[in-house]
Amino acid sequence: MADHDVDLFVIGGGSGGVRAARIAAEHGARVMLAEEYRLGGTCVIRGCIPKKLLVYASRFRGEFEDAAGFGWTVPQWSFDWPTLIANKDTEIARLEKVYGTLLDKAGAKHVKSRAVLVDAHTVQLANGERVRAAHILVSTGGAPSFGDAIPGIEHAISSNEAFELPELPRRVLIQGGGYIAVEFAGIFAGLGAQVTLVYRGENILRGFDDDVRQHLRMDMEKRGIKVVTGMKIAAIEPVDNHFSVVCSNNIRHTADRVMFATGRRPNVAKLGLAEAGVKLAENGGIAVDDYSRTSVPNIFAVGDVTNRINLTPVAVREGHAFADTVFGGKPTKVDHSNVPTAVFSEPEIGTVGLTESQARERLAQTDVYKAMFRPLKATLSGRDTTVLMKLVVDGVSDRVVGCHVIGEGAAEIAQVAAIAVRMGATKADFDATMALHPTASEELVTMRKKTASYKRAAAE
Ligand SMILES: Cc1cc2nc3c(=O)[nH]c(=O)nc-3n(C[C@H](O)[C@H](O)[C@H](O)COP(=O)(O)OP(=O)(O)OC[C@H]3O[C@@H](n4cnc5c(N)ncnc54)[C@H](O)[C@@H]3O)c2cc1C
Repeated sequence: MADHDVDLFVIGGGSGGVRAARIAAEHGARVMLAEEYRLGGTCVIRGCIPKKLLVYASRFRGEFEDAAGFGWTVPQWSFDWPTLIANKDTEIARLEKVYGTLLDKAGAKHVKSRAVLVDAHTVQLANGERVRAAHILVSTGGAPSFGDAIPGIEHAISSNEAFELPELPRRVLIQGGGYIAVEFAGIFAGLGAQVTLVYRGENILRGFDDDVRQHLRMDMEKRGIKVVTGMKIAAIEPVDNHFSVVCSNNIRHTADRVMFATGRRPNVAKLGLAEAGVKLAENGGIAVDDYSRTSVPNIFAVGDVTNRINLTPVAVREGHAFADTVFGGKPTKVDHSNVPTAVFSEPEIGTVGLTESQARERLAQTDVYKAMFRPLKATLSGRDTTVLMKLVVDGVSDRVVGCHVIGEGAAEIAQVAAIAVRMGATKADFDATMALHPTASEELVTMRKKTASYKRAAAE
């Protein structure tokens, strides 16, 4: 490696890149990382963390409203968006520093610069400096995609800008049906905006369990969010200080902000990938094998840029596994099955494993257990809401292959349920577990009666 300046050059200082750089350096590698924007990447700067802080902020409204049934008189409350954004920015800046310190402590050099590949062993920084590296890791993440170019699209914002708005819009129109769209619908509505969500598909949250999708839509509508499916935005026209939005059915909507949450695409453009010989997969991400190795043996890629499962803990795991494989003498594959996931909508969703329809396609017999009930808190608050718990069980082995929860604390429940699902717990194991009372999640161990059972039709 004598003709190399470093053993590892990491392009992108987000969840995957920082973890990989840190662990590789701890294994003794000479590491350099380039980040063009801010250390911490999407998750820390304009993803999971600021989003969850905004979700917390938006939930106070419900708490204030629910308090009366418990005897509280809450004085007239009001909300100040600039305070929330300023406090969020302070926390994000603190976390960004922590990421820098973690790299420093591990001995990994980091620079603030865009970096691109010149060839399989050379990276060029924005100032023209070239660095020769034995190994290169591409961890450049993803970016919002606005879909078709429609008239006036330049007036739309993505989640990136939503975190930085100077004021809370009074009327928000969101296009999209994925988790970011429904989360921001809940955030803006909770903070006091009138929210309309339009989505071209049949129902929101494609890929999630159908009962959960239906339940969330119903509950969002109960909370005053207008959900319009089978429709998309056709044009955005600025009028005075707001927008007149034409939808595909020719109906016009008036909004102060139009947000597109129509998916994200891997950051692969103008990176020099083709020059270095790195191939892309059909889904637009960098094609990699089980060890995150690209089509060029010394170049690896982890996280959203590979478009496998685009979540922070997955990027972190992939980055760590890469460093252990290449620099730790411990070849490590990442298991991408049973990855728990949450949607911080209102109400919240937590899920792990197969949906009912996935199980019915894959398993010889699928048993379904479902419970829908009014949470205890709602009895005094009077809130019109219900919790849904659903277990999807392999009818032959009795293994619980899917757990889906919608209601308060669903994400926390899913994280723990994921351990049981991953370990192969059976429905009998769930039943043998003592309930913890009074909780909502006790339903997961007390659902005795099958709601439905399906046998897969024999292949013709
Ligand atoms: C609004 C939102 C909410 C989310 N919420 C959640 C959540 O609740 N839970 C969850 O698990 N995940 C969530 N995610 C997804 C999560 O943020 C990503 O999966 C995760 O950040 C991926 O990490 P990464 O390292 O692959 O990429 P990133 O974190 O995106 O990091 C890539 C970095 O590379 C830098 N970069 C790009 N090109 C170059 C270049 N040429 N040179 C130098 N630097 C470059 C970028 O500036 C960026 O900092 C959310 C995402 C968004 C947008």
